[in-house]
Amino acid sequence: MSLLEVNNLKTYFYTLRGVVRAVDGISFHIDEGMAFGLAGESGCGKSTTALSIMGLIKDPGKIVDGEIIFEGEDLLKKTKEELNQIRWKRISMIFQGAMNAFNPVHRVGDQIVEAILYHENISREEAWEKAEKLLEMVGIDPSRAKNYPHEFSGGMKQRAMIAMALSCNPKLVIADEPTTALDVIVQKQVLDLMKELQKKLKLSIMLISHDLSVIAQMCDSVAIMYAGKIVEYADAISLFKEPQHPYSKGLINSFPNILNPGKKPESIPGQPPSLINPPPGCRFHPRCPFATDKCREVEPHLVNIGNKHFVACHLIGG
Ligand code: SF4
Repeated sequence: MSLLEVNNLKTYFYTLRGVVRAVDGISFHIDEGMAFGLAGESGCGKSTTALSIMGLIKDPGKIVDGEIIFEGEDLLKKTKEELNQIRWKRISMIFQGAMNAFNPVHRVGDQIVEAILYHENISREEAWEKAEKLLEMVGIDPSRAKNYPHEFSGGMKQRAMIAMALSCNPKLVIADEPTTALDVIVQKQVLDLMKELQKKLKLSIMLISHDLSVIAQMCDSVAIMYAGKIVEYADAISLFKEPQHPYSKGLINSFPNILNPGKKPESIPGQPPSLINPPPGCRFHPRCPFATDKCREVEPHLVNIGNKHFVACHLIGG
C-alpha cells in the first residue's frame, strides 16, 4: 500500500483577477521508504501541492476536489484538530528558505525543544536530550545546541532544520527546494545526509525542486509539472534517460549534463502561461515546437506508455 496517494487534486485561488488554477487535477503516490520528486519551473504548482498535503492552504485558496490519502485515510476529511495531530508528527515539511526560519534570539536547541514539546508529552530535559541526539544525527556536534542561529553556517542551519523536521519521527518529509540557497558542495552534503537519513529511518520523502540534478540525485520516481498539471510521471531512471514529453526534454536540456559536459544548456523559449486563463488544449502548446491543431484544441491526458511511464502528449502513446 502507498503511504501517500494523491488523487485528482485541485487547489484553486479565488482572486480579484479571477480563479488561479494552481493545481489542476494531479495524481501521484509515494510508497513507504521511497523518494518522490516533483519538478517544474517556478509557479507551476509544486509548492501549492505540498501546502495542500500539509493542510496549509490559506484564503483565498481552496482545495476544490480530489483526495489526499495518507496511511489509508483521506486527509481532506479530517477535522482541524485531527490534522494538527498528523501535521509535523506524521508528515513534516522543510520549507523553501527554511534555514532563515530560525528565530535569531533563541538558541537552536531551544527551538528544536519547542517543536518536540508541541507534540510530545515529555519533560523539557528529555526534549533537550532528544534535540541534542537529533543534531548529532544530522552531523552537528550536540554541544552546538546552545548556540544561536547566527553562529551556524548556512549548511549547518539547513541540517538543523532537517533535525527539526525529524523531531517527531515523521513517516513522510516534504522538502521544498531544500538546497536552493546553498553552494554546490554544501548542497551535495545536505542531499547525501537526506539520503542517508531516508535509508536509516525508512523515511518517505517528497522532494520539490526546479533543479532536476537535485531530483536525479535523490529520487526513485519523478513527476514533471507544467502549469498546474503533471505532464510526465515515471521512475527516475526512465524519466531522465528517456524523457518523452517535449516539456520534460526541454527542462532536462536546460540544465548542464554531467554525462555530456560539452553540451550547452538551452532554455525553453517563452514563459509559462497564466493560470487564470491557461491556453486551451495542451497548456504547453504555445511553447511547443511540435504543436498541431489538435494540441491547440484537445487536452492530452496521461497515458501509460509501458512500465508505469505516463505521458500527457498527443504525439506519444496515442
Ligand atoms: S500535446 Fe502537442 S503541444 Fe502538447 S507537448 Fe505534445 S506535441 Fe507539444
